[in-house]
Amino acid sequence: MPRITHCTDADIPERRRMVNADLFVSEEAVNDMLDHADIGASDNAEVMGLLAGSVYRDEKGIYAVANKAVTSGLLSDEVSVRFDPSEMAELFDALDALDFEYVIVGWYHTHLGIGCFMSETDVNSHTAAFGETGYAIVIDPIREELKIFKGSKDGPVEASMVVAEDHTQIA
Ligand SMILES: [Zn+2]
Repeated sequence: MPRITHCTDADIPERRRMVNADLFVSEEAVNDMLDHADIGASDNAEVMGLLAGSVYRDEKGIYAVANKAVTSGLLSDEVSVRFDPSEMAELFDALDALDFEYVIVGWYHTHLGIGCFMSETDVNSHTAAFGETGYAIVIDPIREELKIFKGSKDGPVEASMVVAEDHTQIA
């Protein structure tokens, strides 16, 4: 994954969340990720993508909103996935096409029938791209499981997610 430049704490706007969760994901982004996961599963391939949205803070700490799931051509098989370097322009075009101000708040990828966890490779990818921040969604379309992890100084730890029908309802 490309190194993701994230905002420094001082840049994070304050906005109070209505529900205590680490990540709020739009229904559209969830549906796109699940569809992508199912398409991958039918090809016996893992899939991945990035989550574009916003980072906020309130008195309980930092949280993020993911509005859109964005992906491009992938190099993948049953047990691994990465962005195809020759398709990165497509990924950046997809990001450019977003009609809102965004930061990359995290990424998603799938596991096929092995359950949702962060493998050593996943932890290394996450830390390389997001450091001690960022969110990782792992989807197992075969077991129909989904888990969310957030970066911390000890590496990614399990976190909580809320699906928002309309992201304007979030806060
Ligand atoms: Zn993985």
